[in-house]
Amino acid sequence: MAKYEGSCHCGRIAFEVEGDISEVIDCNCSLCRRRGALLAAFPRSALTLKTPESDLGTYRFNRKAIDHRFCPDCGVSPFSEGKRQDGSVMTMVNVRCLPAVDLSMLKVTAFDGASY
Ligand SMILES: [Zn+2]
Repeated sequence: MAKYEGSCHCGRIAFEVEGDISEVIDCNCSLCRRRGALLAAFPRSALTLKTPESDLGTYRFNRKAIDHRFCPDCGVSPFSEGKRQDGSVMTMVNVRCLPAVDLSMLKVTAFDGASY
């Protein structure tokens, strides 16, 4: 499995995520369409924060089931966290925040988040 370094723009938030990224989601929900994220799903345990958790801003909307994490300084949203229906905790990582990922090589799948 590959390991990717990730961060917000200013570096206040830095993390590592382990797993394979081949397919990403381009979600059309009211948040994603504005921030332009390309998302890849991982178990939350695959993500290791290298900066203090207290530096993470949290934004919730709609059913407030997902914690959308962002940097209070530069405003970039590197990942979101939430529970699946089976209770497992997952994270959706914005692969645009993983500099080693070649975005042009990814298979991008449209996801109709607006209908949820
Ligand atoms: Zn930042």
